[in-house]
Amino acid sequence: MRNNGDEEVIKKATITKSDNNDMTRKGALSVRNVTKIYDPEGVHVVALENCSLDIKAGEFVAVVGPSGCGKTTLLNIIAGFDSLTHGEIYLDNELLAAPGVKPKPGPDRVVVFQHGALFPWKTVLDNVIYGPVIQKKMSRSEAIEIARDKLSRLGLKEIENVYPGQLSSGMQRRVEIVRALINNPLVLLLDEPFRGMDSVTKSASHEALLELYDIFHKTIYFITHDLEEAIFLSDTVVVMTTRPGKIRMTIEVDLPRPRDYRMLSTPKFLELKEMAKDAVHEEALKAFQRGERELA
Ligand code: ADP
Ligand code: MG
Repeated sequence: MRNNGDEEVIKKATITKSDNNDMTRKGALSVRNVTKIYDPEGVHVVALENCSLDIKAGEFVAVVGPSGCGKTTLLNIIAGFDSLTHGEIYLDNELLAAPGVKPKPGPDRVVVFQHGALFPWKTVLDNVIYGPVIQKKMSRSEAIEIARDKLSRLGLKEIENVYPGQLSSGMQRRVEIVRALINNPLVLLLDEPFRGMDSVTKSASHEALLELYDIFHKTIYFITHDLEEAIFLSDTVVVMTTRPGKIRMTIEVDLPRPRDYRMLSTPKFLELKEMAKDAVHEEALKAFQRGERELA
């Protein structure tokens, strides 16, 4: 028997061609030799060093690595919240970040934070439409139309008048992702969105994110500590070295989509996990021995 009322309203989402069309897909990220030094004149923390990574348009990349290795730093630079010291980042071959280029967040790159940011006093629908309406990008009625479309395709229409406090954390996170999608971004940046969730909520959230990815197919940069989660969700797992962060290895996850939990026990899955485990463990040990603080 299910006792979680939230999950009961979830209906199967529908996939339409226009959302999932290879020909029109955009959102390729190219991170080239990026170095980030915090406080260069003072403490001089080298967070990233010569870090290079290519993410294809519509690719789901999961980034793993020990605390303090620079995962969030790279996310912040891509998001336009922070600058870099050396190197360049391109979005669809357009320069996004380089020394001397002023960091600029944009609706093409949306961040979903670990600790949700829904307004508790607004309904789900009002939360989803808030951004574009306040920025005068859409009229209220236009935004409502788009929001209802996205909500209903994710089986969330019945909760549009519900307040976030009435929803489980997994459901709240799903609404946040819908809110992030309303501006039709090219890239979703997720910083450990499911960290600290209990295992049932976490697996429901995985399913929801996978379903959402199968429908909207955005480029995703997904940070996690959880190697199993990384493999289960992504097309590519990127293992970063301990600070200064660079890419230690990338693993292609050639598991078919749509994915479901039965895959977690397949030989292929276990083989992929085995491939990444040693590298992750070794880097974590290095960070631990150096006394890297828990920062993520
Ligand atoms: P991760 O997300 O992988 O845990 P971060 O990107 O948050 O790592 O941090 C990378 C390194 O940069 C850490 O050693 C951290 O202490 C340092 N760092 C992060 N932000 C700042 C800052 N604003 N000033 C100085 N050092 C920072
Ligand atoms: Mg972090």
